[in-house]
Amino acid sequence: MKNTHIELLAPAGKWEALEKVATAGADAVYLGGKRFNMRLLRSGFNFSDQELGDAVDYLHEQDKRLYITVNNLYYDEEIEELSDYLLFLEELGVDALIIQDSAIIKLHQQLGLTVPLHASVQMGLGSSEAVKFFAGHGISRVILSKNLSLQEIAQIHQETGIDIEYFAHGDLCISHTGQCVMSNIIASESGNRGVCIKPCRWQYTLEGVDGAGNEATYYLAHKDLCLYSHLKALVTAGVSSFKIEGRMREGDFLAFLVKIYRKALDDIIANQEDARPDPEDEKKLQENRVRNFTTANLFGRTRINVVDLSGEREPFFPTRARPLKRLQADDYIESSDIKKDATPIEFTVKVANQDMLTSLKDAGINRFILGYEYPEL
Ligand code: SF4
Repeated sequence: MKNTHIELLAPAGKWEALEKVATAGADAVYLGGKRFNMRLLRSGFNFSDQELGDAVDYLHEQDKRLYITVNNLYYDEEIEELSDYLLFLEELGVDALIIQDSAIIKLHQQLGLTVPLHASVQMGLGSSEAVKFFAGHGISRVILSKNLSLQEIAQIHQETGIDIEYFAHGDLCISHTGQCVMSNIIASESGNRGVCIKPCRWQYTLEGVDGAGNEATYYLAHKDLCLYSHLKALVTAGVSSFKIEGRMREGDFLAFLVKIYRKALDDIIANQEDARPDPEDEKKLQENRVRNFTTANLFGRTRINVVDLSGEREPFFPTRARPLKRLQADDYIESSDIKKDATPIEFTVKVANQDMLTSLKDAGINRFILGYEYPEL
């Protein structure tokens, strides 16, 4: 089991949190600037360029590391400014960049940067082949998908030998490892641009579903991850960096988590196989939990019990459902309005059942896609 390079990695959204998690025992801190970063919804959070420089000095003086999240997806028009930002971070001497967009791998080469690149959990890496591919393109650490089992993590470690970071504690998305367009569809605020309004944390009613009832329910509210009791198994599987989620959380709460995880990891480093989770600390985590806990996929694929339908511990979040305008007849384009030019346009429609197919057969459609996911077809 010996792994002498176990790291406890804590988040910070503000300077106050940075100081508190460092003092509480984090080996490294990850945070974002005011630009090009997830978690941009709350204006009082994230670090100015000046603060980024101060944070590097502050942590390096204590022999701790600083990783910067540059983990959105970017457009062509942003590449120039993004390049300047990457050069700025290299100049500061940060210890790694946490990235999602593969364009940064290319920019990293073109700009001759040396700062290590870590593949963000947003990349959704969950197989040895995907990890090998990115390792071959300059990624030195992967933050594996939160949707993996212990066995799958161990296999990736055995087959790739790459430095593995894994989330141990905090919020979870209902979507697969954050690959989600729900906020974008509902409110044009994209999770991939750092402004997710978290519609998965709202109540919903279901229409047309047998037995669903009319009661508004938290159908998508995932419980929080807590792997405190399984750290030793994760070390054995090959995880070398344990990450606490929560860049938007206050410093005191983060420091509380860091202290508990610090103690557990120190026990594992010192006592190896003889290390044991502390029942008192498990109790403290339970008593101070935000939502109810889950181990997510660690011991098998998730089922409905990872969602807390009651929403009874769902914290206040300052967004709410927005009424969507029902489309009117005027919103549709008359086919006569579509200009016909010399290039023939082919029209393909995906249908869900036999009735749809029959009703559209004379509608001038060139090609049908049959949706086999619908059992009634
Ligand atoms: S809507 Fe929910 S599941 Fe989707 S990205 Fe936002 S927090 Fe995650």
